[in-house]
This record gives sequence, structure tokens and C-alpha cells, in this order.
Amino acid sequence: MKLTVLYRGPLSSCNYGCEYCPFGKWKHTDEELAKDRADLERFIAWVEARTQDTVSVFFTPWGEALIWPWYQQALARLTHLPHVERVAAQTNLSCRLDWVKDCRAEKLGIWATYHPEWTKRPRFLKQCETLVSLGVRHSVGVVGFLRFVEEAQTLRRELPAETYLWINAVKDGQEEPYTPEDVARFTQLDPLFPVNNVRHPSLGKACRGGESVISVDGEGTARRCHFIDEAIGNIYAPDFDQALRPRPCSKATCGCHIGYVHMDYLELDRVFGSGILERVPAEPLWRRGAVAAR
Ligand code: SF4
Ligand code: SF4
Repeated sequence: MKLTVLYRGPLSSCNYGCEYCPFGKWKHTDEELAKDRADLERFIAWVEARTQDTVSVFFTPWGEALIWPWYQQALARLTHLPHVERVAAQTNLSCRLDWVKDCRAEKLGIWATYHPEWTKRPRFLKQCETLVSLGVRHSVGVVGFLRFVEEAQTLRRELPAETYLWINAVKDGQEEPYTPEDVARFTQLDPLFPVNNVRHPSLGKACRGGESVISVDGEGTARRCHFIDEAIGNIYAPDFDQALRPRPCSKATCGCHIGYVHMDYLELDRVFGSGILERVPAEPLWRRGAVAAR
């Protein structure tokens, strides 16, 4: 079986302090960090044991995980497993990248978010350059606050044309809704912005969540995705595989890339291909738009 697991353990802290984020500058106690590490170790051992499957793992932490060595080592370890196809992580890319040389780079995917209020653009670009030099497929993105438009435009100009830049539409929390001009400006930077700027109708629609894609927390509780609280089982239970079956979505809409890309009718698996987790579209769909925006 092919299985994609979105892992989100108890870690919920970050070295940055974005004011719109509840995890900013939150610090864990040593005990909490030890628990996160132990949960991660148990999860990695579970993946290691699933040799009968083809597994992809996507780390989508609350907060920032890649600053901690146990996450770096976990990513490296997973990339060396023959039955693991892809290992991706969302990150602010503030961490050192020396651990990447311990990974099989061709299996690693990085979803890097640029936070202009918390890092300098040259430093962020240098990190991206390092990923390129190490052969790591990655996307780069910016939260679509209107105050970040100019930074995003400069970032687009300074990134290699081959690097996909996404803009995450702010659907709540923006003082003013986007005007058609705002949408046009973001779309010029990210040709797929209109796809992200929509809450896609999902009620009753077929979605791979709960069948071949699951969300798993530190206790092993599995859900169909991060957006539906109802548990479908626990991955550490011996009969867990029986919980994996088609389930029409029970929510009215789905508005986040890590969710809606798994809905059948949007056919975004064709747009993103093997880069679906780290949000790297298949060429040449995005290259045309990215080059046009330069
Ligand atoms: S970098 Fe991400 S996790 Fe950290 S404070 Fe900002 S939005 Fe939150
Ligand atoms: S459509 Fe979105 S909310 Fe519904 S099951 Fe899929 S990922 Fe979850």
C-alpha cells in the first residue's frame, strides 16, 4: 500500500515570533522536549517497520522542528529507508543545514517559509542556495499579507527562476479583503495563487485523507487530515490498517494546501506530481508564470 503520513507531534514552539502565530517565541520545558523526542522516535520506528508499504512522511509541526537535532536525524534516517519514497518538512529555514549531507537528498523535500519580519532576505536566500547546491527539492513561500508584497516581489527576483515561489492567501486576519489588483499582483508572483485563495467546496467529496493520506500526532492518533478532529484509529494498534478506507470529506470547505491537494476533483496531484508534499509543481506549469513575473 502507498501511505502518506503528515506527522505533527507535541512540539509547538518556535524560534521566531510572528505576531499572527500562537507558537511564536514559545519555549518548552526540558520534559516537554524529551516527550516530543520520545514520541518522534516511536513514530520513526513505526515507519521503519512498515517495509511492506511505500511510505512518504511530511513533517507539519506546530512551530519550528528543524532547529532540533532529533528532527534533523529523523529526516536523515527516513531518507535512507528503501520503502520510504519522500520525506518533506515545513520550516522557516532558520536551522543549520549541515545535517542535510546525511540525507539521501533526492528523497528530501523542503517547504520553506520566508518571514521577512524575522530574518534578513540575504540570509534566507543563502539557505535556499545551500539547498540547491545539495540537490534538495524545495519550494519557497511568503504569507500573503499585503505588507509583504514588495518583499515577495524582491524575493521572486532574487530567487533562481527554477525555484517555485508560493503565496499563502490570507483568508482570515487581513484587515481588508484582497482587491482584484492585489490578487493580480500575487498571481503574477505565484501562478497558483488563485487556487490557494479559495476555500474549496469539500463536503461529500472524495479525498485521499483517511485512505492513503493520514495525519498522526505524538500519541499515534490518526486522523484523516489536520482539519477534522475525529480520530480514525491509532497507528500503534495492531489492526490499524483496517481503519484506512475511502471517506468523503465531512467539512464544508478545505482551504489549506496540505489538505485540498488530496481531493480528487481538483486534480492537483497532476499539477504537483511527486512534489505535492513540499509544494513544488511539476514543470512546465509553474515555470512559465515564474519567469513571466521576473
Ligand atoms: S516561523 Fe512559523 S511557526 Fe514560527 S512563529 Fe512564525 S508562523 Fe509561527
Ligand atoms: S478535503 Fe480537506 S478537510 Fe476534507 S478530508 Fe480532505 S484534507 Fe480533510
